[in-house]
Amino acid sequence: MKKPNPSHEVMKPYKGKQTMHQSKSAREERRWQKPLEYARHVMEDTAARVDASRRLFPYRFLRGDCHAHTQHSDGIGTVAEMAEMVRAAGLDFQYITDHWGLTQTPECKQHGLWVGQEPGTEYHHLGILGLRSTFEPERNLLADYARVKQMKGVPFIPHPAGWWPRKVYTAAQRQALFTLPAPFLMEIINGANMIGKAFDYTDEAAVEVWDELLTAGRQVHAMGNTDSHSPHGIGTVWNGVWASRCDEATILKRLQAGRMFVSEGPLLHLTVGSTGMGSRVKDRRQAGPVKLTVVDSRGLLRVRLVADGRVRRTWHMDGEPVMKQSLTLPRYARTYIRIEAIAIDGKRGYTNPVYLGRP
Ligand SMILES: [Zn+2]
Ligand SMILES: [Zn+2]
Repeated sequence: MKKPNPSHEVMKPYKGKQTMHQSKSAREERRWQKPLEYARHVMEDTAARVDASRRLFPYRFLRGDCHAHTQHSDGIGTVAEMAEMVRAAGLDFQYITDHWGLTQTPECKQHGLWVGQEPGTEYHHLGILGLRSTFEPERNLLADYARVKQMKGVPFIPHPAGWWPRKVYTAAQRQALFTLPAPFLMEIINGANMIGKAFDYTDEAAVEVWDELLTAGRQVHAMGNTDSHSPHGIGTVWNGVWASRCDEATILKRLQAGRMFVSEGPLLHLTVGSTGMGSRVKDRRQAGPVKLTVVDSRGLLRVRLVADGRVRRTWHMDGEPVMKQSLTLPRYARTYIRIEAIAIDGKRGYTNPVYLGRP
């Protein structure tokens, strides 16, 4: 038997290999680089999963995130580090929506990222896309929202129900959402403070509020954004936008029309006759069949049909990667229908609704 080494030194062939033998600066660099590398592996895996799913999915879409922060406000990553992770995640577009101004603009241009902003207003933060000048809020939700529209910007409501890990919004904050002029854009998944996945209990609450708004007859287009404050969180949730051209004007137009699904992994498509997601079926007698396609190359666990705030059908998928259904428009669906899916690893996806009946 070998004698124990009394001096607790490194085995001879490994002399100098232990981290504590490295210079302090080398150690410090590893402390930042390693977690970044782990996050990159996760995002590369998601990109490969989506690529494999695309081969089973007959519809073309672009993937992108409309909400993230850098060192230009309260984020910890540089624009260059964010851009590197956007490439690893295979995203087609990424907005950097820093608080308090637009100093990120020149760097974003250099790295091919788009520029937005996120000031605070009354009751909520206000996400703004497509504005080239800094927006100074009056802190009146309706007035600020209207002014963004007037300036030809695209406003959206981020994290409408609170954010992880501590913040849960008050009833008054939720109620304020019912005063906004519809249609409007609202996040139903926000990945703030999350790494590896985005969905948490605040998103569960956001989906609930969304269904309440929809059931009350509001047209609310759902978005899924990371709100990442570090490069590690990029790519955990994204919008699958029905567009073939990846320029900002095209994407903003599609987002404002609700022509996208929200996902952490699964791909989803829903039509009622010739009416697509985000649009309204005018005459239900001539509506045509409800057609849905849900794909996840990693395997689906469950697909659900939600109408007027209630789960009406559930399909248990047992790991099957593809689900296709065609059904007649059910009578119980009076205001809207939408589809949601969960994959075997818990990643979620949501279509935007198809609206039914008069607005
Ligand atoms: Zn925010
Ligand atoms: Zn934010």
